[in-house]
Amino acid sequence: MDPTTKINIPESDLERIVIVGGGFGGLKLARSLRRSNYQVVLIDKNNYHQFQPLFYQVAMAGLEPSSIVFPFRKLFQGEKNMYIRVTEVTDVDPVAKRLQTPLGHCNYDHLIIATGADTNYFGNERIQEHALPMKSVAEALYLRNNILDDYEDALTTPEYDPRQELVDIAIVGGGPTGVELAGALAEMKKHVLPKDYPELHIEEEVDIYLIQAGDHLLKGMSPESSAKALRYLEDMGVKVLLNSRVTDFDGKAVFLKDGTSIPTQKVIWAAGIKGEPIRGLPESAITYGNRLAVDRYHRVKDCEDIYAVGDVAYMEEEGWPQGHPQVAQVAIQMGKNLAGNFKRRKKGKELTAFSYHDKGSMATIGRARAVVDIPKPSIHFGGIFAWLVWLLVHLFAILGTKNKLFVFLNWVVNYINYNQSLRLIIKPKVK
Ligand SMILES: Cc1cc2nc3c(=O)[nH]c(=O)nc-3n(C[C@H](O)[C@H](O)[C@H](O)COP(=O)(O)OP(=O)(O)OC[C@H]3O[C@@H](n4cnc5c(N)ncnc54)[C@H](O)[C@@H]3O)c2cc1C
Repeated sequence: MDPTTKINIPESDLERIVIVGGGFGGLKLARSLRRSNYQVVLIDKNNYHQFQPLFYQVAMAGLEPSSIVFPFRKLFQGEKNMYIRVTEVTDVDPVAKRLQTPLGHCNYDHLIIATGADTNYFGNERIQEHALPMKSVAEALYLRNNILDDYEDALTTPEYDPRQELVDIAIVGGGPTGVELAGALAEMKKHVLPKDYPELHIEEEVDIYLIQAGDHLLKGMSPESSAKALRYLEDMGVKVLLNSRVTDFDGKAVFLKDGTSIPTQKVIWAAGIKGEPIRGLPESAITYGNRLAVDRYHRVKDCEDIYAVGDVAYMEEEGWPQGHPQVAQVAIQMGKNLAGNFKRRKKGKELTAFSYHDKGSMATIGRARAVVDIPKPSIHFGGIFAWLVWLLVHLFAILGTKNKLFVFLNWVVNYINYNQSLRLIIKPKVK
């Protein structure tokens, strides 16, 4: 396709807002602006919104991928002045106010960058080549295939050492993603693998490692929740290695800074993320974590009519001197505030500076165990009550009634018998 062609958005008298990225932030913004006095264009490289907090359940064969994604076109059916394009934005020209995509270019009056974040390997190319990330539903599905494939291979690997490489799994990063994955894997080891692979000695042979560079899990949560999560995981048989920094992974063993190594072919990388700004923005706008420096009105530094929300945006405010946590609530609240400001602008009203309302944080560790921190009043709790809160919050946050129902049914079946029939290895046709 000729990249100089336009991506065919009708010209209109309305000002055009182009939103790049239909994640939590971009989607909230698009939905809040759909009946406003603007022409809204949503561009995403996928034709669906992804619910990232449940990727780990797809990877652990607990949920079908289709239950946690939702097609954009269905969300915006019947909306006037709302256009969707499925393509990747590769460049922005802030002077010409124009975006470039493989389908052609698109002009904007206002540009919102809501491209989220990608896995950060901190420059280690070997780790990037061999480790398994989990930043998209496609990667979660790939991880599922990989785990199941390796267990199939283990059946036909009689020698102990090579079999260990296939059955052992290391997760790097003790944040919510790593902790939730470790908990789900421990449950899989206890309840599913012995039934599916009775020929393997699962209990004795399978080890799940959670490797964390710092001295505690769930950085950003309370010390109580962090200690509880560690206790839960250790009770479940997860080998939690604190103060352990991964230096390399060659696809056969993961190497630690203290000189030790763990033989495994599967390293799940949940150790960090970095912002995904679009090429063409001024260097001065890019700051910590490859994020875009924005002011309290979401305006990108040294740019005109360019805004950023969500994981890609770095904003300092009182109470958050090092920027906000890269979580869904921040993205949603930023999207909502920016949409409100666009509407206020049309009415000649004063714009509202963004202020994050922290509703709390939580993580689940297997069945009937979770930790929850609520900031005001400061409350921390764990166990089954926290787990029920976790279930409800996530269920309500998933888009679509059918998705909510399917996820709920899956959870009920899983709770009763741990025996989902989703453990399928689905591969593209090999020519
Ligand atoms: C495994 C995992 C678990 C998580 N669990 C939790 C949790 O329990 N609670 C919580 O609050 N947060 C959680 N998070 C973090 C949360 O998902 C993010 O903070 C949130 O998704 C950020 O929203 P966003 O809108 O900034 O970006 P995203 O939701 O990442 O959306 C970015 C969108 O931009 C699109 N895109 C990117 N680049 C381009 C481009 N160049 N052109 C076109 N489209 C593009 C992508 O396809 C995507 O749709 C989790 C994240 C992960 C990965």
